Amino acid sequence: MTAFSDLIRPDIRALTAYRVADLPEGFIKLDAMESPYHPFADDEALLNEWVGLLKNVPIHLYPNPATSGLQAVLREAFAVPPAAEIALGNGSDELIQLFAMLLAKPGAAMLAVEPGFVMYRHNAALYGMDYIGVPLNEDFTLNLPAVLAAVEKHNPALIFIAYPNNPTGTGFEREDVQAVICAAKGLVVVDEAYGAFSGDSFLPQAGSIENLVVMRTISKIGFAGLRVGYACGCAGVMRELAKIVPPYNMNQLCLATAKFALRHADKIAQTTTVLKVERERLFQALSAIGRLKVFPSEANFITVRVPCADTAHETLKRNKILVKKLHGSHPLLAQCLRLTVGAPQQNNAVLNVIRDLYA
Ligand SMILES: *Cc1c(COP(=O)(O)O)cnc(C)c1O
Repeated sequence: MTAFSDLIRPDIRALTAYRVADLPEGFIKLDAMESPYHPFADDEALLNEWVGLLKNVPIHLYPNPATSGLQAVLREAFAVPPAAEIALGNGSDELIQLFAMLLAKPGAAMLAVEPGFVMYRHNAALYGMDYIGVPLNEDFTLNLPAVLAAVEKHNPALIFIAYPNNPTGTGFEREDVQAVICAAKGLVVVDEAYGAFSGDSFLPQAGSIENLVVMRTISKIGFAGLRVGYACGCAGVMRELAKIVPPYNMNQLCLATAKFALRHADKIAQTTTVLKVERERLFQALSAIGRLKVFPSEANFITVRVPCADTAHETLKRNKILVKKLHGSHPLLAQCLRLTVGAPQQNNAVLNVIRDLYA
């Protein structure tokens, strides 16, 4: 065993695995930005239609993601510009990995803002890219002069900007993101994992700006279990990316279900609206507690600074509520928790615990 582990890349041996929290029985899960609603569960006819469809899915055959028709359905559902080409990923996590793989020439750099989505840095490390993390301002807004200076200095081959940002929920100024795209000579991937919950998108520009890719996912709008992400950009980049996408990366069940689901985009939009109303309610209620610092969010979660993150996290846990403790992951996130916006009763449960502690 020791001899074998000697064969493993030392940089990988030094990593720690991404830990997915396992959920004890009866817990309210608000740590991973999942939708609280199974998208078909409240509609018996729809549920039956879906199950009927699954019976005919050819699971004995390899999938063909390229010709599955999912791209066409995505185009239609989300108004992807005709000029943009689409790549499908097994979750946008896979696409992050593929973009890193694509651009990791020796000496190439990746740039992202911090605190940001942890998978960017992780993939920079995996593919041997230099990683430049540019700190956000203390209020989690983008420090544009710092980002532009770092772009100028390091000339990164790949820039990730989550718009809105995770784990802060911040919707950066569109003009700032635009300025980064203009200044960069490398590829800028605007990660719109939370785009459905914000008022803005770069998707209309996909396909018409050479160095822009807009990446999205259906995970945060009710389908985290399916693993469907997509990236939209100009042919020059997307055709090179296509060469390294594993040929069978999307399975038959997920392709069939995603196509079915997106034909009911109105239903998805309804749920998104409910969660946005709940986000606002949660924001107001938390903001009314003077000892908390609540950060504005354009996503389906709220980041909040409490007097003691450990105490709040533990107390919520004792009340069978799982949220994400951000404290310890970045200096700007001191004493912060990230609360996924759940169903109204779940949010009430969170509020009750937090009010007991701090109101
Ligand atoms: C959740 C998340 C993703 C990953 O989404 P999947 O499609 O489920 O892999 C990507 N980017 C950001 C910023 C996220 O928060």
